[in-house]
Amino acid sequence: MHEIGIAEDLSLIVLDAARKENLSKVTKVNISFGQLVQIVPDIFEFAFRETVRKTVAQDAEIDIEIIPVRMKCKNCGTDFQVKEYLFACSVCRSTDVEIINGKELFIKSIEGE
Ligand SMILES: [Zn+2]
Repeated sequence: MHEIGIAEDLSLIVLDAARKENLSKVTKVNISFGQLVQIVPDIFEFAFRETVRKTVAQDAEIDIEIIPVRMKCKNCGTDFQVKEYLFACSVCRSTDVEIINGKELFIKSIEGE
């Protein structure tokens, strides 16, 4: 259940941004997670709601985008999207690969008034 810790961290960022922008209400929070972060969106949303209870963000809509895992093969240079957690090159089957996308964890944007 690492969603709770992540929800706490992200809620601090949201509330801090709301304060800087003088928002009286946060209406929407757009969040991006890489697939490797292994967030369960429902659990995250529940944890986030608990964390922002009685703040300007308590009624915010939460939009979660999951970024697929992309890797680059160090052997042949192919970059490919990982399917079903098969971490091997789709062309040469090498497992000498590096992660390009999939570990993201950030707030894309915040909407409010
Ligand atoms: Zn390869």
